[in-house]
Amino acid sequence: MSADDETSATERLVARRKRLLGPAYRLFYDEPVHLVRGEGVFLYDSAGRRYLDAYNNVASVGHCHPRVVEAIARQAGILNTHTRYLHETVLDLAERLLATFPAGIGNVMFTCTGSEANDLALRIARTTTGGSGFIATETAYHGVTSALVDLSPSLGLPPAQDSPVRLVPPPRPAGDATGAVFARHVATAFDDMKKSGIRPAGLIVDTIFSSDGVLPDPAGFLKPVVDAVHAAGALFIADEVQAGFGRCGQMWGFARHGIVPDLVTMGKPMGNGHPVAAVAARPDLLAEFGARSRYFNTFGGNPVSAAAALAVLDVIAAEGLVENAGRTGAYLMTRLRALQASCPLIAEIRGAGLFIGVELRDGGLAGSPAPKQAGRIVNLLRDNGVLISASGREANVLKIRPPLVFSTEHADLLVETLDQALQTIAAG
Ligand code: PMP
Repeated sequence: MSADDETSATERLVARRKRLLGPAYRLFYDEPVHLVRGEGVFLYDSAGRRYLDAYNNVASVGHCHPRVVEAIARQAGILNTHTRYLHETVLDLAERLLATFPAGIGNVMFTCTGSEANDLALRIARTTTGGSGFIATETAYHGVTSALVDLSPSLGLPPAQDSPVRLVPPPRPAGDATGAVFARHVATAFDDMKKSGIRPAGLIVDTIFSSDGVLPDPAGFLKPVVDAVHAAGALFIADEVQAGFGRCGQMWGFARHGIVPDLVTMGKPMGNGHPVAAVAARPDLLAEFGARSRYFNTFGGNPVSAAAALAVLDVIAAEGLVENAGRTGAYLMTRLRALQASCPLIAEIRGAGLFIGVELRDGGLAGSPAPKQAGRIVNLLRDNGVLISASGREANVLKIRPPLVFSTEHADLLVETLDQALQTIAAG
């Protein structure tokens, strides 16, 4: 296909999408990518062009991992029902998952998406605390349901005046004071709720604060925050949809902080692309919830989804992917820091494992955010066969979040392509 034919084929596809799906969807990149195949850390477009995937945390054990594909196909060929019949697979999965949590977390309930998991966690928190007030961070994203929209201000819709939701500034790195400052914001927001007659129910945080711009440090800063939540009579909900399943160099993002959440939600990488998600919880909370309410989710925890998630856990263990995230992530951070030395636009590099944020500002950390340059870099990388994105309130943080099978060679390719893009930007 000639370049002209390819452009008009893309334009036709974009127009067809708009006509059929309506205007609420957004595509990545100035030149949308039409992907047709994936393998490991690589994606291929309709013209056969290869892209290094440094962004997709869903296919976290690698695109189309044969072991996961085989597990899905095998179980789909035997039986797919739901959790109102007895089946071992969902129980095997529950056992394997619960073995990765601290002792206080003893039950797990299955859903299909991260949004459903968070929605269920809110319901459990409401039922068990008797409260309705929740706190999230200012640029958080927790999902698509009506209950979660107020807790997802990154969608651009601030909570209504009478909403029981309060937003707090994200934990900007402030050394040892990071946790104390964040805990104070949380305590103040709970006090404010109480003054309005709203009983606290919970704080929900993405434990890597991805849409807030990737805020991992210093590890441990969530400890005083958990105390502040409990002092208000509320529950701490760790949203592990982004940070979980080894991404941050440990199985769970909250583990970096040495805390035990009351509720843990997970999704995205759990089925490596197959829709499976869950809420793990303190058994006493579910005892109370279960006594008052029944739960059935037609597709949540079905045997095919459970087989997919079990295969993902197998691959993570067999290929040492948690360790790889820590090791390759550290290598990538070192290479990015070397780049920073010659690039004044890079104000800060933050990361844990294979979740890295590169903050761009004009004039160092105290300078002004550089979202335009971030957007240009993301698009230049795409044009040169590397996929990343940008996040944060000002959209000035390059978000690097590759599949966990990323190797040092892949990291080199990413850094070299980024270096070229930074030089292009510097040249004006
Ligand atoms: N929580 C976080 C932190 C997320 O990033 C997302 C998805 N981007 C969700 C929840 C919602 O997950 P899903 O899209 O599977 O509903």
